[in-house]
Formats: sequence, C-alpha cells, structure tokens
Amino acid sequence: MRAGFPDFRLGTVLATSFTGTLTERRGDAVERIPTPQRLVDWLALYGLAVDSCTPAQLDLARELREAIHAAATAAASQDALPATAVQVINDFSAGGRAAAILTPEGRRWWRLSSASRVEDALGVIAADAISIIAGERDGKLALCASPTCQAAFFDTSQSRTRKWCDMNTCGNRQKKARFNANQRRHSRSAE
Ligand SMILES: [Zn+2]
Repeated sequence: MRAGFPDFRLGTVLATSFTGTLTERRGDAVERIPTPQRLVDWLALYGLAVDSCTPAQLDLARELREAIHAAATAAASQDALPATAVQVINDFSAGGRAAAILTPEGRRWWRLSSASRVEDALGVIAADAISIIAGERDGKLALCASPTCQAAFFDTSQSRTRKWCDMNTCGNRQKKARFNANQRRHSRSAE
C-alpha cells in the first residue's frame, strides 16, 4: 500500500474488482485509483502490468469502469442493458490487443502489445465484463445489500445467496450495525 492513498478492495473477479476501485457509490464515494500510478499498481495485481499510465489513460479507465458498473448493475437488476454502456464496453474490448499466454506452469497470463498500452489491459477487463454479463461463467450478478454501496458483484457461492460485495467491509459493517441496533433495543427494554 502506498501511504496516503486508499487501499484496494481485491476480489477474485477481474471486472467487478475493477468497478470496486470506486466504493461507497451510494454514500461518501471513495476513489481508489485517484492517480495514474495507482491504476498501474492495480493492474499489476491482476497480471496486467504496464510500465506507465497517462492522465488521459486514467480517464479512459474510469470511463470503462463506469460503463461496466452501469451494465452490471442493470444485469443484476434484470433491467435492459444501457446502450451507451454496452457501446463503451464493446469499443474497449475491440480496441485491446492483449494476447492470452499459457505459462509453463499451466497458468494464463496476458501479454500486452506494448508495456505502455493501458488500452490493452482495459480490453482484457472489458472482455471479462462481457463474459460475466453475458452469463457465460458460473455465477450470478447481484447487488450489494449495503445501502451506501449497492455495488454489482459476481456471486460464485454454491447457494448464490451472497449478500455483500465484500465480507470484510460491507458485510462486517452491516453485521455491526445490526448488533448495535439490537443492543439499543435491549437496553431500552431493560429501563
Ligand atoms: Zn458492498
């Protein structure tokens, strides 16, 4: 973690982890990629290492992020997909030139067309969003139950009953809020 910047919320699904770089969207929103370098840091954690990022590329990343957020939210709510968001996602997917690489250990890696092509990394993220919104992967899009969050997340639990985008933050906070409300009720009834 770099001092002075909000830490990342890392999930296992690339596209929804990416939309999670802006959290508390329905409350006091926290921007977790406030600078181009923070986007570089985030991409590296997902195997999409770039050596640099310009402010314009950071703007592109945020444009894609918000398009994925809008489309994933609509899909989770079973609403029609917003046409502009779909267009943005498709444009980024088509504009990326990353190649899937199989490592000798049998893992998938991404090779970007050049180390400064943030657009290639964004293309991988856009394609990941397409695969979950299109229902190609095992899981279900859902909205976080925290009222200040409501982030779209990809539920891969067996029962498909996950309520929060992140157990350690939104899940914990909700549990604490419920606990405190119960405590208040009990202390009132004891008076
Ligand atoms: Zn949440």
